[in-house]
Amino acid sequence: MKKVEDYVRSIPDFPEEGVIFRDITTVIQDAEGFQLAVNEMKALLDGVDFDIIAGAESRGFIFGSPLAYAMEKGFVLIRKKGKLPCETVSVEYDLEYGSAEIEIHKDSIQPGQKVVIVDDLMATGGTIEASIKLIESLGGVVVKVIFLMELAGLKGRKRLSGYDVASVITYE
Ligand code: 5GP
Repeated sequence: MKKVEDYVRSIPDFPEEGVIFRDITTVIQDAEGFQLAVNEMKALLDGVDFDIIAGAESRGFIFGSPLAYAMEKGFVLIRKKGKLPCETVSVEYDLEYGSAEIEIHKDSIQPGQKVVIVDDLMATGGTIEASIKLIESLGGVVVKVIFLMELAGLKGRKRLSGYDVASVITYE
């Protein structure tokens, strides 16, 4: 039987030379691949007491919303600036070149709510570090951060130290 990593397509030199891009389109376009990915992410939440799932645009939505549905929890969007229609809080963070800004609806997390954050991949951890800031600024408590994949060499775990981080697939 195939494993979830067998469905990930690795593309050398994308988006720039020297980078191996881990493509999840081949995971989710296959019915079995998508089931495996979501089920294995769900297993990372075994025994975790939480209230709500938050996902970062856009691939965090792909895995976060079926997880929330399967676990009968709500799902909160963390979006790039300018996309959410109601009152938001936002945070700017550094990218390799330049910066980005993400935001969340002010009323999407209640103080004290236990939040799980979901994304497809952790590289430097910058996106999730910024997502944690947003959630904490609303009084949410981040109880777990889960990924389908992590690139261990980029030391995202160090950046997110103090948080409970787990992933299904680790690339060295
Ligand atoms: P970080 O903020 O941890 O440096 O970068 C992670 C973000 O970039 C994630 O939201 C993820 O979707 C995207 N990303 C960076 N590299 C890859 C990759 O190789 N594959 C995929 N699927 N996403 C990536």
